[in-house]
Amino acid sequence: MYGVAMSVESPLLVLSEPMVLPHSSLDEQIMKIFTDIACIDYERPGHPERPQRVGATLERLETDKALGAVISKPLADATEFVELVHPYDFVKGLSRSQDFDADTPAHEGIETHALRSVAGALDAMESALAGEVAFSLLRPPGHHASAETAMGFCYLNQIAVAAKVGARKGLVVGVLDFDVHHGNGTEASVLGAEGILYTSVHQSPAFPNTGNHSRGNCKNYPIRPHGRRQDFADGVMRCLDDILAFGPDLIAVSAGFDAFRGDPLAQENLEGEDYFTFGRALKDTGVPTFSVLEGGYSDDLPQLVLEYLKGLS
Ligand SMILES: [Zn+2]
Repeated sequence: MYGVAMSVESPLLVLSEPMVLPHSSLDEQIMKIFTDIACIDYERPGHPERPQRVGATLERLETDKALGAVISKPLADATEFVELVHPYDFVKGLSRSQDFDADTPAHEGIETHALRSVAGALDAMESALAGEVAFSLLRPPGHHASAETAMGFCYLNQIAVAAKVGARKGLVVGVLDFDVHHGNGTEASVLGAEGILYTSVHQSPAFPNTGNHSRGNCKNYPIRPHGRRQDFADGVMRCLDDILAFGPDLIAVSAGFDAFRGDPLAQENLEGEDYFTFGRALKDTGVPTFSVLEGGYSDDLPQLVLEYLKGLS
């Protein structure tokens, strides 16, 4: 388990309606941020996956005038597609009183929050396919959730659902997961799926202690803890090379920011500018790309997301 408790207070942005942030040039590609302030409405005190992650990030993006992002609430009907990954009974059973495990608390209404995260991924995917830069800034994260297991702060696997929807459209989908933890739920959900390649760079050993080997359409690049910053960054580029060799129509990114050197839940050493580099490398592929927020638990998360978005834009 992650097993790290934090309690950091940050001011929360009160977002009521979709808004357009100042845009530097009408000629630039539109950037869409899918978020909803309702996602901060649940919390287990002391838990690192805390409301301020999204609240403070949104506030940071707001104050960066050059970013020019359009902020929208997710509107997709997630219930229509969630069963591509999760059985209906599992989804309905998420709102329960008993914790799933020590990391993954029971929350009243978590089913609604998790479905909103799925909707954000689906809207971000459609936005990317329409030629926009798209990021889903919501919680809970999803890449540890498998068909019938909520774990690792995750309840429903939004990136797996979106990848499967993309594949069902006949698209070749490459998934890049640069969260510091292996996306075991995503791998389990897309293993053997036609038209989908899953790639992950992650710390090993670390939670959830999977992803030490590649298998089938799932390519894993484990990186030792306390390693060189460049080792993790090189792993991201290897994932991207694999994806490009797969001939993708669409790239789906599980964007976790917990390989940052200041993150309390892992022991990797990325700097903020590395996230800019990842964003720029994705942009340079020319392939429609959308990203969803996974982990990232340091107080620097807002700046790291901003760096990544600047790279993508
Ligand atoms: Zn993580």
